[in-house]
Amino acid sequence: MKSWGGEQVAKRDCYEILGIDKNAGQDEIKKAYRKLAMKYHPDRNPDDQQASEKFKEANEAYEILSNQEKRKLYDQFGYAGLGGNGGGQGGFGGFGGGGGFEDIFGDIFDMFGGGGGFSSSRRRRGPQKGANLQYEMTITFDEAVFGKEKTIQVNKQDACDHCGGDGAEPGSGTSTCTHCNGSGEIRFTQRTPLGQIVNVRPCDHCHGEGRIIEKPCSVCQGTGKMRKKKKISISIPAGVDNGSIITVPGEGAPGEKGGPPGDLYVVLTVKPHPLFVREGFNIICEVPITFTQAALGDTIEVPTLEGRVKHKIPEGTQSGTVFRMKNKGVQNPRGYGKGDQFVKIMVEIPKNLTDEQKDLLRKFAAAGHEDSHEQRKTFFGKVKDMFGM
Ligand SMILES: [Zn+2]
Ligand SMILES: [Zn+2]
Repeated sequence: MKSWGGEQVAKRDCYEILGIDKNAGQDEIKKAYRKLAMKYHPDRNPDDQQASEKFKEANEAYEILSNQEKRKLYDQFGYAGLGGNGGGQGGFGGFGGGGGFEDIFGDIFDMFGGGGGFSSSRRRRGPQKGANLQYEMTITFDEAVFGKEKTIQVNKQDACDHCGGDGAEPGSGTSTCTHCNGSGEIRFTQRTPLGQIVNVRPCDHCHGEGRIIEKPCSVCQGTGKMRKKKKISISIPAGVDNGSIITVPGEGAPGEKGGPPGDLYVVLTVKPHPLFVREGFNIICEVPITFTQAALGDTIEVPTLEGRVKHKIPEGTQSGTVFRMKNKGVQNPRGYGKGDQFVKIMVEIPKNLTDEQKDLLRKFAAAGHEDSHEQRKTFFGKVKDMFGM
């Protein structure tokens, strides 16, 4: 049930990995990452297991912190907020495609003088991670507070059932493209005044696939994809709020050429509650009382997330007084305990009085003395001082 958290605990903090401050800007993040990526890149540290680990770690931290949505989630919930897989896995997907990795590696190549050791591996059109998808979900106030297992049905592109995403009719053959010898790309050399330049473009004979399908799949016409209605279960952890995002790994669009699927981001909207307002992990609730209750004191019933609770209000309670009920707020999904409930007392002045009630109130007023209205007394004392009489 609570996959939230758990195995990711031992992971180092993203900010610590990059050696930057929590308030670091994008430039600083990029700079710190670049430094580490250059230092630990596998091309510079062949067969160095430790460097490879550090490289992976830096990649993952950068993928999270360079993405505004992911960074917000990480700041709020830690690695758990990213659905437990931490985002990384070397899938250079980025949010909705065009992620930060392309840019930053572009920069690194420039620094190495272009065409360096690892640019060639990046440019090859190999397996690609599928696009990430976004789904907007409205949940009730209680579901946000207590968490809930939900199932959604999405109509999305998925791997074709018939060919398993391969694109070829099962049982039919495929052959290696003879134009590109299976590489999927055509290289040609151009002579320019600056010297020879090697250009690479996708092979137009096999459309960059590297292979020729003899008989395309009869169901998907060779695309390897089909639209499917799919049920996806989503585990909403207790304590989420408006705008929280839940990552469901692997439920995005299918990958290309055998690449892994993208992720599904579920963006939550929380319906308002008739009695409670949330502020972070605290709950705020206004409770109206009569002026007799306010003047004489009473034990009132206060609604809380977990039911009604009796609360004593003292004699002479003023309108606007706020009581704090400790630990009656919302569970913090990062496990740092609970918020509080704040109860704001509103004294309601009675309307539509009967003649008898009015009579009693006049008698009440006539029997009064100045000291029962301290604020009024102080106020008019100041007015007197102001005008000297
Ligand atoms: Zn198919
Ligand atoms: Zn080809």
